[in-house]
Amino acid sequence: MSAKTRICCRRGCNEPVKKPTAKYCSIQCCAIDPERHERLRKHAKTVLPMSRQLTLAIPGGAANPEAQLALLGHDREDVPAGMARLGG
Ligand SMILES: [Zn+2]
Repeated sequence: MSAKTRICCRRGCNEPVKKPTAKYCSIQCCAIDPERHERLRKHAKTVLPMSRQLTLAIPGGAANPEAQLALLGHDREDVPAGMARLGG
């Protein structure tokens, strides 16, 4: 096995990955991977408490508008990252 050839990261699948940036041998393989679904579920759980903090920060945020803006900016950064993960 050469260092360049990577094996599909779905458990039980030993197909080589064709693209250097890809983790799976195919889109189908990625879509049916139960571990990927588990990761996406965990990722969704970590994002949710942050959005709750943001909702709470808005009524009390008048005392510190800069902190409120920082929270908003942080949340926006997280959204494209999550989308990219779903697309990849
Ligand atoms: Zn595969």
